[in-house]
Amino acid sequence: MVLMDEDENRIQATIYKQDIFRFKRFLKESSTLTIVNPSVGLNGSNYRVIDCSNKLVLGPNTHVNPCQEFDGRMFGFKMISFESLINIDIYLKSTVDIIGHVVHVFKSNASNVKDKNKRTMEMCDLNENCVYLRLWDHYALELSKYVIEHFDEGQTIIVLQFGRVKYYTGSDGKEKVYVSNSFGSNVSRFFINDFLFEIKEYKNSLLGLLNSNDVSVRKPIPVKMLSSVDDEFLRATVFFNICDICTIIFPKSIIILSTIKTICPDTEWYYIGCNTCSRKLMENNGEGGKEYECKTVRCNVLGVLPTPRFKIKIRVQDSTGVVSLTLFDRDAKMLTNKTTSELIDSQNENNIENGGFPAELDGL
Ligand SMILES: [Zn+2]
Repeated sequence: MVLMDEDENRIQATIYKQDIFRFKRFLKESSTLTIVNPSVGLNGSNYRVIDCSNKLVLGPNTHVNPCQEFDGRMFGFKMISFESLINIDIYLKSTVDIIGHVVHVFKSNASNVKDKNKRTMEMCDLNENCVYLRLWDHYALELSKYVIEHFDEGQTIIVLQFGRVKYYTGSDGKEKVYVSNSFGSNVSRFFINDFLFEIKEYKNSLLGLLNSNDVSVRKPIPVKMLSSVDDEFLRATVFFNICDICTIIFPKSIIILSTIKTICPDTEWYYIGCNTCSRKLMENNGEGGKEYECKTVRCNVLGVLPTPRFKIKIRVQDSTGVVSLTLFDRDAKMLTNKTTSELIDSQNENNIENGGFPAELDGL
């Protein structure tokens, strides 16, 4: 964890597994504590959240109590200027806090699964310096959610705390600065147009610059321009009642809003697919045992690595009717939070007959 005192000095702290039970009830984000007698150890980690060579260790001799009189700020940002990011004037093996306004959003490719969980945008500060901000996973989802709820709001100001900095050389030979959320999914803190003091102050300065006709500052884009491919899909696609589906003559994308009534248990819930094109594989009995063949034009090879993929038949219902649908890999993974292989493994562990139905799918 990261601890901060009233003067906004921050330090990393560790509790080893055997001592967690002593402190568990105090370990809540944003709680204020008095910590008596922690020990000071070396922070030997290659990549530190806080750039400090020491850390605190809370052990058997440490006493922790709730503290009611904390006078410090809530988050203790240490904003790094974009100028020092661009000039690599920072300690690279640690995180940064940044604030800026969004001036451009890169379109992501909806058909690329990896791109679905990633948003990249260009962010500038008040001094004409710009860096790239890349949000992954639930930070990207949080952004999409924000856009849906605040679609018609003005400029977008973002704060990212504990972000990770990376440098890439662009095709023009110039070094580009990327800041992204760091360390898996939960370490960074992310705020958009929030009521934070820092954001209010930034916004005032930005509006001041824009009103003074100072052309040097790049104009912030409105929130709606951050909308993701998914949002655009929701806005641009036609809504259908189930009873009207039969009127569709040509292939098209539609949205229905319905409840899953049953998962058809008498059908296979996965198939063996190609790990390149995900089409179903042909099974041959070759000399060396089972062999898999992908017959699509794109692959057309024998000896493909077989990958189990979801293909779950479901029946869904709205107020107008019932229809059968099939959930394929990407959507099924999102609903079950498991991969096909994980479910097959858990099935084998529980000695469920092959092809039987994993209990996890009942949860749908
Ligand atoms: Zn293939």
